[in-house]
Formats: sequence, structure tokens, C-alpha cells
Amino acid sequence: MDRPVFTISPTEAKSMAESSSLTLPQLLPSLVTSAQSLARPPISNFRVAAVGLSQSGRILIGVNIEFPGLPLHHSIHAEQFLLTNLFLNNETNLHSFAVSAAPCGHCRQFLQELRGASDIQIIVTSESDPKFTSLSQFLPYRFGPHDLLPENAPLLLEPRNNGLKLKKKLANGVCNGNTVNEKLKIAALEALNKSHAPYSDSPSGVAILDCNGKIYKGCYVESAAFNPSLGPLQVAVVAFIAGGGGEYDEIVGAVLVEKDGAVVKQEGTVKLLLEAISPKCELQTFLCSYD
Ligand SMILES: [Zn+2]
Repeated sequence: MDRPVFTISPTEAKSMAESSSLTLPQLLPSLVTSAQSLARPPISNFRVAAVGLSQSGRILIGVNIEFPGLPLHHSIHAEQFLLTNLFLNNETNLHSFAVSAAPCGHCRQFLQELRGASDIQIIVTSESDPKFTSLSQFLPYRFGPHDLLPENAPLLLEPRNNGLKLKKKLANGVCNGNTVNEKLKIAALEALNKSHAPYSDSPSGVAILDCNGKIYKGCYVESAAFNPSLGPLQVAVVAFIAGGGGEYDEIVGAVLVEKDGAVVKQEGTVKLLLEAISPKCELQTFLCSYD
């Protein structure tokens, strides 16, 4: 079976647009229906796909993900998946996207984390006469990063290095360092150092390992409105799905790195989600600090 496609390179996107005599933004709506088949919504069975165009001309896909057995706030919306996919591909901004249903309030808010968010162009393919409309028209009175952070603070998708290092002692105080996969620990720390957590100053990162030995990283992403924030394991699950991962029980190892003394702690929530999706997978937690 072919691997599901979650990204289309700028060169391929350009040739697809040219062969249909469309501009790149005009091409996006035509990709929405096939992208909906990639969604994993076992609770609602309502498939959402958001097909976005980055500033560099890459096309990226986001879909909705739901987790049976857990409260609904663990769900990942298609637009959140899309922004995570941009991040995974080192893209620095979103130009426009086509989406199968109108973006919910939660996603209109989450998108505010991007610089120039007001200018993002959105087309809703389920409308009777779909047209590109700017995000500022979907959410005219915005509350965003500028309300809480200095103007020059790095926003989501902008370069960031939180500069934290692992502490020697394990978070749970149990010394089982010998069994830990060092690569996972380093990957989780890398994710933490890219984590967008400017509101709580509590960056965190997760690395998960699948049964083929592939590692997927997830960094915690905060929203200025707090509730739409994405946990580090949710982001790692997006990386797993976008990277071709299959069933969740293929996830066989997981490491979480958190900042020592952080006001926002992830361990309990990460354990809960991991237990729901891959019950046999053990989580190991480590702490880090600035020295
Ligand atoms: Zn949404």
C-alpha cells in the first residue's frame, strides 16, 4: 500500500497547478476531498481536512484526529494538524488553506499564534460559493500573542531555542537510566528546546519510537488563549501519522522531557493519552534546566 501523502514539495505543487492551469491557492480546494480520507475521527466520524500552502510554495495537509476513551479536549483539529505539519517541515509561515468545513472558534484562535495571522486566506469548500476570505474576517476582534508578549518575541514557526539541558536525576527518582534509549531522550530534549510555550515558560518535548525503530518528535505548543494549546504527545502523534505511522500500538517507546519546576506539567496527561492509544508502551520522564 502507498504511504499516505501529507506534504507536496514546492516543485511538484507548481507542476500540478500548471498542468491544471490554476494558481497554487486555486489548486488547494481540489485536494481537500482526497485528504479527508486521511482523517482518524472514530468518535464523530466527521472527516475534516485542511490543505495549506506555505510561504515557500509547499502544500501541507492536516486532518482531524480523535481518541476514543478520553475526554474530547484531547482531539486534534485539522488546522492544528496543518500547523504542526508546517512546523515539522521547517516552514516559517502559512499563506492560505482550503478546508472541508468552516474553521471552528478554537482553530480561528489557534491560528493567531502565527505572525501576520490576519492575512491568512481561507476557503471553505463546503460553502455553496467558496471564496478565499482572510482570517481577520473569520475572527475580527482578535486576542493573540501581541496581547501577552513583546512585539519581537518569537511566534509559532519562527526560530526558537529554549536552551535547556537535561538534569542528571530522573523525574521519578528511580534510577533506570541504563534501559533508556539515549536517542529518544536526546530527541525529546530537542523537541523541548523548540517548544512554543511563551505564556507559561514551561516548554516540554516528547519523543516516541515505533516498532520499526523510527523516532517521532513532538514539542508542546501553547495558544495565547491557553485551551487550544497542543500537548507534546499530541504533536508527536501528528508527526507519527504524517510520517507514515499506522496503528497507534506500533508506538513502543516514549520519553517526555519537562522543565524542572515548571508551572505546567505534562506527565499525567501524556501518560493518560499514551495508555489510551498504546497501552503496552511505557513512558519515561526526565527533567531539564538552564544549567
Ligand atoms: Zn477546529
